[in-house]
Amino acid sequence: MSSVTLDHVSKRFGNVKGVEDVHITIQSGEFFTFLGPSGCGKTTTLRMIAGFYFPSAGRIQFGQQDVTHLPPHKRNTGMVFQNYALFPHMTVFENIAFGLQVRKLPKQDIKEKVERAQRLVHLEGYGERRIDQLSGGQQQRVALARALVIEPQILLLDEPLSNLDAKLREETRYEIKRLQSELGITTIYVTHDQAEAMSMSDRIMVMQGGEVQQIGTPYEVYHRPVNRFVASFIGETNLWEGKIVATDGNLIRVQVAPEIELVGDRANASAIAKLQPGETVTLSIRPEAVEEAGEADAPACNQLAGVVEVAEFTGASVNYVTKIESLQLRSMFVNRGSRVKQAGEPIRLRIPTESIYFIG
Ligand code: ATP
Repeated sequence: MSSVTLDHVSKRFGNVKGVEDVHITIQSGEFFTFLGPSGCGKTTTLRMIAGFYFPSAGRIQFGQQDVTHLPPHKRNTGMVFQNYALFPHMTVFENIAFGLQVRKLPKQDIKEKVERAQRLVHLEGYGERRIDQLSGGQQQRVALARALVIEPQILLLDEPLSNLDAKLREETRYEIKRLQSELGITTIYVTHDQAEAMSMSDRIMVMQGGEVQQIGTPYEVYHRPVNRFVASFIGETNLWEGKIVATDGNLIRVQVAPEIELVGDRANASAIAKLQPGETVTLSIRPEAVEEAGEADAPACNQLAGVVEVAEFTGASVNYVTKIESLQLRSMFVNRGSRVKQAGEPIRLRIPTESIYFIG
């Protein structure tokens, strides 16, 4: 297996910026994800690693080997495309065997390797089926087997689950993760789906407009977002504007509405947050961090009275949108069977000091 280094890599298409100055090292055996909205440069970056595009600037290395200008077939990468790019009239066996036949391996070797790849993705006994006789999920597994059969040092996956329905997508994401850790293969995964990225990755690179916003573990990008974009793109959050009115050691008092002051902790802040009195800051408050204050609780720090605007029961959780003066607060509670409030009912909520995250 191999590490992958992108050394200040950029790609321009004429006047269009594809990606700019991507600088990362993906460790050998790591599951690394490029995450961002449509057009942010994920696929362009992946295609440069595969060799389908050459960078306009910068260098790419696999381990110690400089591959910047190496053609795709000399890179030993396995790739799964969004539409799978299988040959529809050929059999499962023929599709998986294709890369090995191009490499002119002996017949018996090909048979053994294809059968092993079929077992890996649980497609034993499907060798003679034609691709157009398979379900979407099965086709996806053929594409994965075809990428793995050549024993690549790096596996590249470009939105491989987007053609599957929600349930199958979830199952397949565990399956891919299982395979990856079993084989220990360096894997680069492209998606715009933050839940997919969070659940599968060792680290995530969040991109926007061709630029890297943040690189970190799922925990880091969720709990320590570097800016507003990352905070709102990863999971759900409440973003409130506030003005710092006072600081007292680690405690920060911030006004978020004419009648509402909250207290946060200086330790929970991104590097760009200016935490001096008079400064304006953005606060990020995750819905699941909000607590419901009991009727009998004495008024306390960060307790807010509001009216439920929207109540949503999902089965696993109860979600409220609450109006508090001029503000809206989304909250999410694990459903433990208690009564769900209706729109129009009063509610008292509490935002724990440590759950307020200051962004610049
Ligand atoms: P999506 O999720 O929609 O595939 P993406 O994040 O993968 O989006 P890219 O396909 O990498 O984004 O595109 C990044 C930018 O580069 C976009 O502005 C896109 O229009 C542009 N781009 C990509 N490929 C080309 C090309 N071959 N020619 C010209 N512009 C391109």
